[in-house]
Amino acid sequence: MKASRLFLIHNDMCDKDHFEYTVDRFADLQLLRYRVNGFDDLSLRQKTLVYYLSEAALEGRDILFDQNGKYNLRIRRLLEAVYTGYQGDRATDGFRALEVYLKRVWFSNGIHHHYACDKFVPGFPETYLRELVDSVDVSCLPLEEGETVETMCGKLFPVIFDPSVMPKRVNQADGEDLVATSAANYYEGVTQKEAEDFYGEMKARGGDRPVMYGMNSRLVKEDGMLKEQVWKADGMYGPAIRKIVGWLEKAETVAENDTQRKVIRLLVEFYRTGSLKVFDEYSIEWLKDTASQVDFVNGFIESYGDPLGLKASWESIVNFKDMEATRRTETISVHAQWFEDHSPVDARFRKERVKGVSAKVITAAMLGGDLYPSTAIGINLPNSNWIRSVHGSKSVTIGNLIEAYNKAARGNGFREEFVAGEEEKVLLDKYADLTDSLHTDLHECLGHGSGKLLPGVDPDALKAYGSTIEEARADLFGLYYLPDAKLVELELTPDAEAYKAGYYSYMMNGLMTQLVRIEPGRDVEEAHMRNRQLIARWALEHGAADKVVELVRRDGKTCVRVNDYSRLRHLFGELLAEIQRIKSEGDLEAARQLVERYGVKVDPKLHKEVLARYKALNLAPYKGFVNPVYTAVRDGEGRITDVTVDYTEEYAGQMLRYSRDYSNL
Ligand code: ZN
Repeated sequence: MKASRLFLIHNDMCDKDHFEYTVDRFADLQLLRYRVNGFDDLSLRQKTLVYYLSEAALEGRDILFDQNGKYNLRIRRLLEAVYTGYQGDRATDGFRALEVYLKRVWFSNGIHHHYACDKFVPGFPETYLRELVDSVDVSCLPLEEGETVETMCGKLFPVIFDPSVMPKRVNQADGEDLVATSAANYYEGVTQKEAEDFYGEMKARGGDRPVMYGMNSRLVKEDGMLKEQVWKADGMYGPAIRKIVGWLEKAETVAENDTQRKVIRLLVEFYRTGSLKVFDEYSIEWLKDTASQVDFVNGFIESYGDPLGLKASWESIVNFKDMEATRRTETISVHAQWFEDHSPVDARFRKERVKGVSAKVITAAMLGGDLYPSTAIGINLPNSNWIRSVHGSKSVTIGNLIEAYNKAARGNGFREEFVAGEEEKVLLDKYADLTDSLHTDLHECLGHGSGKLLPGVDPDALKAYGSTIEEARADLFGLYYLPDAKLVELELTPDAEAYKAGYYSYMMNGLMTQLVRIEPGRDVEEAHMRNRQLIARWALEHGAADKVVELVRRDGKTCVRVNDYSRLRHLFGELLAEIQRIKSEGDLEAARQLVERYGVKVDPKLHKEVLARYKALNLAPYKGFVNPVYTAVRDGEGRITDVTVDYTEEYAGQMLRYSRDYSNL
């Protein structure tokens, strides 16, 4: 067996000391710590840069709360006021339920579940919250000008307690007015049709290098006219944006090189002007910066929170390159053209030249906004379609977060419960950490960057199905290549068997285990989950005649059995070809049928069984992270002489500190 770099990573970083990964556990959530491996090896200048960018990453926290719902900030402040100010018995069921509710609001950056988008049901009655509100000092409460406690409660309590008020943050139900029925704060008094027409017109005039219309604004109707409230230094969210800009300007003084300096300057200009053209310039410059070790994202980036997929939520991540692990993704990246040329999609949809797939493994140093506490393990940016096709994209996998997930999950009983038998367990124990990482790399480095649209096809033609189809495309590209002899040749997989672990875990997740994240009676809503179920169900159905994959019973429990791994690869290839055709041609109807048929509906009986088995394990289906704390050590003149990193902060303490120190809106 060849020793690949991946094994080295996973074994060498094992338990240098007893780092406690799990911080907190409540509701369906588990909070972990991540270790910033290699921080001490950075130069003082780089550490200082990380410090400034980390402050910028925290200053935008309130923006996301407001984007997720217009009452979120006030509700958070109300809950924090009673949580910290209540002098009575804190050991009662009522107070504990309030604490869990507040912790969930922090986690979701609002009152809706971060993943399922449904409003939380508080585990305490309205009367109890009122009792607490009345017991604390009025000066601590988030009262608005001229407001009494009575009118404040009258406004906020229905939002918290009435299930019919703002029930969903993002509604994706086919056929409804998605704008009017979503609680996200991106539109006000506007119908879906009006919003679509408004931006449709802009796009029609946009030429072949369109900016991402509507990305950084709220669309409102004033005196019957549609108007954008732009998020910029002197516009909406100005106070938070000005703080961010302040830290970015400090960061500029310690940038690693001229390109990075220019990147920061353009981002500052974007925040000042709100100009999307400047944002495109920034994105292009950011792509050029591959030399810096420290890198960051700070801005309005992902549009999952907008039912129309236009408005971008605020997020930030500060990171630096993991030099060792980056060699793995560089190997993939260098051979990008080979993968493109050999993919099973129609030649008309392939890229003649795959450009600019830069790939690296990074170490996260700070998470903010929509990447905190729940976060991604891989990122591929920018999102602008034309920039991606002309200038390429940057892809990263986040090594230290994956490490934390894997370490925290070790020996929790999950695998034993759900795999079909000993053979599968051995397979997963041996290879799954490796194949899962590799699949993420293939998804990010090759999948999203592969293929092309036919001339004249609107990049948003697939509308509400676009995200699911795009994720399916990237996943399938990775799945198709996982067994390829090329990967063994490149020493990315140790042997021709390893991919089976990746296939098995993908099918088990897509057919069964991801259902633990869905409440009984609900559909699959989130794009990545829809994509995984779509792929797994499609493969199950299309291989049914030959029993390629089966759902079998073991000791009265349902399990996934893969009988023919190489046939499964062919099925993935077939579906990849079709999904790429749908994307390339902008075939909305085919996208709708695939997603609605395979990606959305849940088998209620299987769902119930999976939930019961999972519940017995007492594990949390969702995880998030507590950030480390950086402290700048200064000399007598205020110059930074070192930056230290500390991992001891607890979850609630961190959230309360952020609410105190970064409360900008
Ligand atoms: Zn993706």
